[in-house]
Amino acid sequence: MKKIVVLGSTGSIGTQTLDVVRSHPGEFKVIGISAHSNGDLFEKQRREFAPKKAVIKEVGENKEDFNERVCELAVLEEADIIVNAIAGRAGLQPTLAVCRAGKILALANKESLVMAGESVMNSARKNGAKILPIDSEPSAIWQMLEGERPESIEKIILTASGGPFWSRSREQLEKVTKEQALNHPTWKMGPKVTVDSATLMNKAFEIIETRWLFDVPPEKIDVVIHRQSAVHSFVQFTDGNLKAVCAAPDMRVPISYALFYDEKKKTRVLNKLPRLDLSKMNMTFEKPEHSVLEGPKLAYEALKRGGDAEGKLCIADEIAVEKFLKGEILFLGIYDFIKEYIK
Ligand code: MG
Repeated sequence: MKKIVVLGSTGSIGTQTLDVVRSHPGEFKVIGISAHSNGDLFEKQRREFAPKKAVIKEVGENKEDFNERVCELAVLEEADIIVNAIAGRAGLQPTLAVCRAGKILALANKESLVMAGESVMNSARKNGAKILPIDSEPSAIWQMLEGERPESIEKIILTASGGPFWSRSREQLEKVTKEQALNHPTWKMGPKVTVDSATLMNKAFEIIETRWLFDVPPEKIDVVIHRQSAVHSFVQFTDGNLKAVCAAPDMRVPISYALFYDEKKKTRVLNKLPRLDLSKMNMTFEKPEHSVLEGPKLAYEALKRGGDAEGKLCIADEIAVEKFLKGEILFLGIYDFIKEYIK
């Protein structure tokens, strides 16, 4: 039985991870869970999975103390795999802790790689840690690159759903509400990622994530808008072959791939998750270049500038989304805030 720790257990990825665990009795033993909020669900999880260690943010506890307790959980001696499903920048310290401990990290927290991609990857290499992505796009790329040589990669093409506001004009976007931004057409996710998806900042972070996770220069990373979220990315190879990974838009598919990944076995798990019905699909692909949603543009600029530009982009977005969700700024104000912050 694999011993698993789930950080951010009450969030969207955390609950779906536990759902995968639940549907495969006898495969996993949950030995640790942590959550920032949602105490009722946390208690339910604690009762159901009876982990050895459970950490939830206490009333009045400061960020640093809570983070320290989460990091202790992240390096539990007997853990075989640690799932980092923490939302936002708070995920970085636990990621670094798992890397230093040389463990297997199933990583959903993209901010870890946006904030400190180079040092995270260096630390993983140095300490023998493995990073298995559990977001749909990086999981697809990981699958497509298995057995391929780096010099054979011509281009990695990330697919983006475009979110709820794709193809709207600047004028139309001036009036959009928080409720509209939180209504994603294909994916069910937490509020931060859903807003990031509407601004295409989520794709911006995936560009930076891809750059570090797969050690690919930014000029070899492209984005294509694919409204149906059926293709989870492409890799174009030097001989003209184009690989794609397709699956129903259900996060439990990439979660399963990471949780069951075992270099020695490489057998895919049998699950009952939704299948893609190709006969019902009408797949479209569009270039995002001229969109008002300028997330990807900001990512390429940050990668070009280097230094702390990627980290600043991440921080700026986190603050801007918080402000937007509180009703303090408008949707397009998110870009204004970010641009001002990263100047
Ligand atoms: Mg994604």
